[in-house]
Amino acid sequence: MEFNGRSSRVYILPVRSLTESKINFKPLGIILIILILLFLSPSFGLRAEEGNKIDWNAAGDEGVQYLSQYLRIDTTNPPGNEMKTALFLEHLFKKEGIECKIIPLENGRANFYARLRGKQNTEGKKREDLPRFKALILTNHMDVVYADKDSWQIPPFGGEIKDGYVWGRGALDMKDVAIVQMMAMFVIKRSGVLPERDIIFVALADEEEGSIGAKRFITDSKDLISDAGYLLNEGECIHVEDGKILNYGVAVTEKAPLWIRISATGESGHASEPDDNSAMHRLTRAGERLLEWNSPYRIIPVVRESLKRQALMEEEPYRSLMADIDNTVKDPDKLKLLLSRSGILPLLKNTLALTVFQGGEKVNVIPEKGFLEIDCRLLPDEDPDSILEELKRQMNDPTLEITVMEKFKSASSTVDSVLFHAIEKTAQVHHPGVPVIPEVLVSSTDSHYFRRLGIVSYGFEPFCLTEQDQDGCHGINERISTENVRLGIHIIVDIIREMDKLEKENP
Ligand SMILES: [Zn+2]
Repeated sequence: MEFNGRSSRVYILPVRSLTESKINFKPLGIILIILILLFLSPSFGLRAEEGNKIDWNAAGDEGVQYLSQYLRIDTTNPPGNEMKTALFLEHLFKKEGIECKIIPLENGRANFYARLRGKQNTEGKKREDLPRFKALILTNHMDVVYADKDSWQIPPFGGEIKDGYVWGRGALDMKDVAIVQMMAMFVIKRSGVLPERDIIFVALADEEEGSIGAKRFITDSKDLISDAGYLLNEGECIHVEDGKILNYGVAVTEKAPLWIRISATGESGHASEPDDNSAMHRLTRAGERLLEWNSPYRIIPVVRESLKRQALMEEEPYRSLMADIDNTVKDPDKLKLLLSRSGILPLLKNTLALTVFQGGEKVNVIPEKGFLEIDCRLLPDEDPDSILEELKRQMNDPTLEITVMEKFKSASSTVDSVLFHAIEKTAQVHHPGVPVIPEVLVSSTDSHYFRRLGIVSYGFEPFCLTEQDQDGCHGINERISTENVRLGIHIIVDIIREMDKLEKENP
């Protein structure tokens, strides 16, 4: 969508001619009438609001250049070194005249915050006291996962722009999102037409490891976002398959990780004389019993709604299997057929994966100690404490020591929000007829920290991506097309504009 961008000069011209023609009263009267009519016309306000013309191509080029520079900053986590990216962002926001600050953390790490004040300027207010125009947070993380440069075709921290793509670690996860969020704020400010609500930009440290950035932000810096009602973060995207746009995926909740380390100690000795009570043998038996743990299939409301909407785009038999999921899970044959599709099973139950098993150093020595680690992913409404107790019963060995590495209850965001409806409106402008699907993210992001504060938070990246495109995420040769950078800026700007429009239309 191109903004019409008629400048207010159009309306100044008649005023000038009015002062120049002092003696000629007849045209003066006509001009006055035209001016009054223009003022009364409902479109007058809208036209005057359009501000400066947005050059989407130039904004896209600028975004591509910034992304290339941003990807050259190595924020491999650990150690992260996010202070370097925070300084980069601070420089750009300051240049643009948008207030911002670096929030330093220990060991060269940092969070970064910026605020574009809207017409309402709600800073410092409480979201509960704002009936409309609660601030929108655009959030992202600055750290990236390790890249093994020998397996890449191009240097992972070179920021190369080649063959229509920007290449580098973080190009999909998620320095790309940060740059389009930032550019959307710049574009809006330059347009001269501020949104009603404040737009807040939050770049966090350490999402890929322990989420120190998010944890510290929602405690130490909570006051900075007291007026925020909505948030956009990483998660789902605009899904593409065989050249066809399937849907806009919007993650409204996430499965909750429950990570546990199970340790055992026993007598060490020579392996020629096996001990059935050794640490390793007890751990192995516990592991086996855990693999037999079978969490039941259970359909939560958001999964039911998501599958119902997805079904509309499916061929039979999947169309019926998804649309009638409650009956599908009761019929073993139907369930088996549906589960042949990747990505379905984790939506329907709690899962458990055995990931780490460590013990001795030498093949002929019985080690004194060992441990194994498991990664459970729980449905968003699950109580993690009761699952933990269930797992202990399942292992049935009180001599084992259980350490919880990660455990929290997930939170969900409503689908009926102005932000969700603004995404739906924007989708219809860019890709008419394509549905917007609420989804459960099976992995986890920093969004749940903000959901806990009562902020409606969605995982939506405004990029058209195939499954193959997404392989680069945490993989090799990570890249994003320059077309997607352009599209992303446009979509974020449109979502912000649509939110205001919707709230003005429905006070
Ligand atoms: Zn990420």
